[in-house]
Amino acid sequence: MSICDIPAYMLSDMLRRKKISVSEVMSEFGKRISETEPEINAYITVNNFGNSLQDIENAYAAGKELHPLAGIPIAVKDNISTKGIRTTCASKMLENYIPPFDAEIITKLKTAGAIFSGKCNMDEFAMGSTTETSFFGAVKNPVDTEYYAGGSSGGSAAAVKAGECAIALGSDTGGSVRQPASFCGCVGFRPEYGRVSRYGLIAFSSSLDQIGPIAKNVRDCAMLYSAISGYDSKDQTSLRLPPANYNELFNTDVSRLRIGIPEECFGNTVSSSVGSTVIEAAKLFEKNGAELIKIKLPSIRYAVNVYYIISSAEASSNLARFDGIRFGHRAQNCSNIQELYERSRSEGFGAEVKRRIMLGTFVLSEGHYEAYYKRAKLLQRRIINEFEEAFKNVDILLTPTYPEAGIKTGSQMSITERYASDILTVPASIAGLPALSMPCGNDTNGLPIGMQLIGAHGSDSVLFSAAELFERLVEKSEKI
Ligand code: GLN
Repeated sequence: MSICDIPAYMLSDMLRRKKISVSEVMSEFGKRISETEPEINAYITVNNFGNSLQDIENAYAAGKELHPLAGIPIAVKDNISTKGIRTTCASKMLENYIPPFDAEIITKLKTAGAIFSGKCNMDEFAMGSTTETSFFGAVKNPVDTEYYAGGSSGGSAAAVKAGECAIALGSDTGGSVRQPASFCGCVGFRPEYGRVSRYGLIAFSSSLDQIGPIAKNVRDCAMLYSAISGYDSKDQTSLRLPPANYNELFNTDVSRLRIGIPEECFGNTVSSSVGSTVIEAAKLFEKNGAELIKIKLPSIRYAVNVYYIISSAEASSNLARFDGIRFGHRAQNCSNIQELYERSRSEGFGAEVKRRIMLGTFVLSEGHYEAYYKRAKLLQRRIINEFEEAFKNVDILLTPTYPEAGIKTGSQMSITERYASDILTVPASIAGLPALSMPCGNDTNGLPIGMQLIGAHGSDSVLFSAAELFERLVEKSEKI
């Protein structure tokens, strides 16, 4: 097996035991990137940046105790600020933007000695589900290049799947870590809101955005999550909690798990192959001693509307700073300031971003605020309450991640159909809950199908322990 396809936690062990060197790791990943990248398009910028390989190489050679991520190549979604390295949000607006500072999590990873393989392609400003809205072209799914890698963190998921990095960072506002992870057969985790610093994450919807890891397996996902989580005084919504402890993430006894199966997330909501595969996965838990409990989350039917109203409202405000003066693309030969604003924004933003800004401005405007934004916030509370009620009787919820196994390149879906298909991922976002997507089978075309596990507040270790148990159960059933 190539170094590029080995789980990151094993790579880490091999580095520690001097079975391989950091420069070997980098050269293997570099080779893989040059082989597969022309077709996949997972990166906007390929780069080894930040810290000195030689220092880490020497430290390993000297037998020093290093962080498990030292020397591990990590790919970073291109909406996470990296000092001195172009950070575009896949937009013409930021095509040449070079941040003067690092996001908090990048600082943490640099301290850990991680190596950065590059900046990943994504939907423009993280708005989309296929990466089609990227100014740099869409990302293809390494599982089957006739399909998209998903979005908005499609580049991150594709880079992991293609072995173009060991682990990746994505961001998830309404599903952008979980959905591409599902499409590419990876494990993706959206941490509970406030658990990972958003300092340096270019904001789409501040009350929903969370950075999360995408990995080949549950352990790798936990390894990156534990390195980036924890309180940050520079993020006002940061939870005052210490970083997640890698080992503690796996020490919850999940053999008698009570698993809630929300009926709204199955049936007509999903394709029959997705529904039946995910139910089979739930039965695997049941066979191992878990209890499956049918539950109802009736307000989930409002979740897509709530999500698109709140996220667009916040986006319209957050994206006001890209005016050609403070940040972003500046139109040339303008005769007055109004024209400069108008043309800079018209030229810099793509169609989907403009649609969201218009929608957001509309729902916040006088005369419409009460009818849309205010009602969406009330419904958000109702959805939160329903989750709270559910978690009185169950430990986790189990649903499919997306209604389909994948989206074929060039497929014609209307905007409303696209938005509606986020139905399974947006509820956890709206409620600020942790949620993980992992592969649980394949459809008849061989595309991976994702299962989503949603946890209550503070239930990281239940989620990771359950996900890891599932991995083991699948392995065992494959051996039989
Ligand atoms: N598909 C969703 C959207 O377009 C998810 C985006 C995200 O999580 N960043 O808004």
